[in-house]
Amino acid sequence: MKYYSTNHKAAPATLAEAVKKGLAPDKGLYMPEKIVRLPEEFFRNIGEMDFHDIATAVATAFFGEDIPSDDLKKIVCDTLSFDTPVVNVHDNIWSLELFHGPTLAFKDVGGRFMARMLSYFIGREESRKKVTVIVATSGDTGSAVANGFLGVDGIDVVVLYPEGKVSEIQEKQFTTLGRTITALEIAGNFDDCQRLVKSAFMDEELNGTLTLTSANSINVARFLPQAFYYFNAYAQLKRAGKAGNVVFCVPSGNFGNITAGLIAWKMGLPVKRFIAANNRNDVFLEYLQTGIYTPRASVQTIANAMDVGDPSNFARVMDLYGSSAEAVRKDISGCRYTDEDIRETIAAVYEKYGYVLDPHGACGYQGLSDNIGPDETGIFLETAHPAKFKDTVDSILGREIAIPAKLQEFMKGEKKSVRMSADFGDFKKYLLEMTIK
Ligand SMILES: *Cc1c(COP(=O)(O)O)cnc(C)c1O
Repeated sequence: MKYYSTNHKAAPATLAEAVKKGLAPDKGLYMPEKIVRLPEEFFRNIGEMDFHDIATAVATAFFGEDIPSDDLKKIVCDTLSFDTPVVNVHDNIWSLELFHGPTLAFKDVGGRFMARMLSYFIGREESRKKVTVIVATSGDTGSAVANGFLGVDGIDVVVLYPEGKVSEIQEKQFTTLGRTITALEIAGNFDDCQRLVKSAFMDEELNGTLTLTSANSINVARFLPQAFYYFNAYAQLKRAGKAGNVVFCVPSGNFGNITAGLIAWKMGLPVKRFIAANNRNDVFLEYLQTGIYTPRASVQTIANAMDVGDPSNFARVMDLYGSSAEAVRKDISGCRYTDEDIRETIAAVYEKYGYVLDPHGACGYQGLSDNIGPDETGIFLETAHPAKFKDTVDSILGREIAIPAKLQEFMKGEKKSVRMSADFGDFKKYLLEMTIK
């Protein structure tokens, strides 16, 4: 299958090219040229299928023409070494827990899948030239990508993160790994990190010397596999006899996660509608209200993985809806929560229902709670384990929440990072010197 650019000024790419390049040469984002509707039979049987079989069927619809079925199944099964359970919080509100992977956040799915798919394609090349993955993170991408690629042969990973703006636990998850992973601590915010990564892809000299690729949610190999758990969530609700009028509420930053849900929907997943929950970075909500998209600098919040002022996957949403705000509004509604709202939600949900939310999931929960009808079944995506934001959550609940063993392991490691300005010249120099070494 071919992948076209959302800017329509670059030639369509093969899957291997799209995965290696990340961003299209015309700065657009790659989209699959067709979105295959899965057969009725698949949805009739989905309640009896396990996660690996569901995900393999979804993966085959996209990648089946390009990767032999045994190889693809292996990539899917190695990626999904953990479950994504749906848990009832109360009444018709359910939590899709996406934090059971190695770094306790949903990005493990895309990070692990992309590492395996890229390694598959590189392994089949004759030159076997070393590849450098560069990735900007506002918190959780860095750890998911770094851990997903750790020790994968022939691939170096460079993580850029904003100095002082990620939690200690998040930072430890990508600064303690060493080996093929380098962490750059940038004097700036997340948008600066994202700009540096984008500039690197546009720089001719760099691209003549290095084989650069991106593992941000713009990469199709990170973005599309996120559709897997929407199907798996539906299967679980079906088993529970609650699969009518399903509404997904997705805590959103770069809008990769919700866009994967929209793709699942176009593949036939029976969903009624979506809600995009924002923190104070609410350019999407403003777009829904006014029809005008005005990117701006991000503001810092306690749900920091959603601190994005110019969501990259907005281009994909526009592509899916022919740039019509009216069409978008029919399917997706929006909401926005301040840090104070988030704190209140975390406290209230724990007090009433004994369920501990993380600050991102709290936006998702509240988005459902404020918008859901009595005849609907609401699922919010609990995108990270609350212990990843331990200081914030502890101070809200007034008690210490337990740190899972997987996280404790990271905390023992020693932080190693390289500090750098937000100037592209410095970043470029670093990358070039890194290759010489
Ligand atoms: C990345 C992230 C988000 C935002 O997801 P997008 O795909 O960028 O919209 C939400 N919550 C957590 C915990 C994240 O790490």
